[in-house]
Amino acid sequence: MARKFPNRLLPGWAHYAGTAIDEGGIVLLYCPRCGHIFRVSLELMVHVRGRQFLLLNKRPLCRIAKCGGRGFYVAAPRPENRLVPVLQDLPDDWIMGPRPLDFEPGPPDPPPAPEPPPRWITARRSAK
Ligand SMILES: [Zn+2]
Repeated sequence: MARKFPNRLLPGWAHYAGTAIDEGGIVLLYCPRCGHIFRVSLELMVHVRGRQFLLLNKRPLCRIAKCGGRGFYVAAPRPENRLVPVLQDLPDDWIMGPRPLDFEPGPPDPPPAPEPPPRWITARRSAK
């Protein structure tokens, strides 16, 4: 079957969990049904399934219990690079946009303002 949209954007290292670790790449799980992005542990995958565990074209179940959708892996070499679906063919509606950076937690909340020093209540002396 002729491939209509061959995914030339996908680097070869992103095909396998082991090579993704070697390259220091970032792999996340994206669910197109609910739009959520999940962290994945490549180390755990390699530990359980081996270095040759294939990420390409895998459609793991979404981690949102009520969603029931099937996601796919997305990969980027560095946090500032755009994520590319780890699929043989790019989905027709895929819009290159998000980067791993966009899903990092924001800066921590500023520390709460310090309590003002207690003001001692003093009995006012009458000025007589
Ligand atoms: Zn989902």
